[in-house]
Amino acid sequence: MRIPLDRIGDEPFAWHEQLAIDAESLERPELLGLGDILWQGTLKREDGIFRLEGRLEYEQTVSCSRCLAPMVLPVDSDIRLRVMATVPAPVEGEIELTEDDLDTVYVQGEELDTLQLVREQLQMNIPMRSLCNESCRGLCPTCGANRNRESCDCEETEVDPRWGALKTLLDE
Ligand SMILES: [Zn+2]
Ligand SMILES: [Zn+2]
Repeated sequence: MRIPLDRIGDEPFAWHEQLAIDAESLERPELLGLGDILWQGTLKREDGIFRLEGRLEYEQTVSCSRCLAPMVLPVDSDIRLRVMATVPAPVEGEIELTEDDLDTVYVQGEELDTLQLVREQLQMNIPMRSLCNESCRGLCPTCGANRNRESCDCEETEVDPRWGALKTLLDE
């Protein structure tokens, strides 16, 4: 969505769109897929600056950090931002920034392209760590078996690193 800032008057600019973004383009290996993204919001002019209030709804498929199993997670996130044109809109007197905790986005030119904002939000909404289950047992580092579903005999044949060091000594 490209929003022409100079066309926003007293009435807020409202949008409602559906986006398809390729999960691979976010370059996060744990993100396996993205469903259609519902992106809606309003942008209104307020004391010479713009306030954006938006909402993103979609489903993302991420892999379990331990066993790599895919999991579908619904996402519902609100975005509230202050938008400022680098070339300030003509206003009387000085632009006074109110003290709030809103992040500010600076716009180059006269259009706000919300796609960049959306992509940043998608990045932030990917969990740092996802578990299919708190007690997920992960994959066997030796044979790759999913320990939630099958057991393997690898533990028994695993060499204790101390024995490895001793063997090196004996070999010398
Ligand atoms: Zn898992
Ligand atoms: Zn194994």
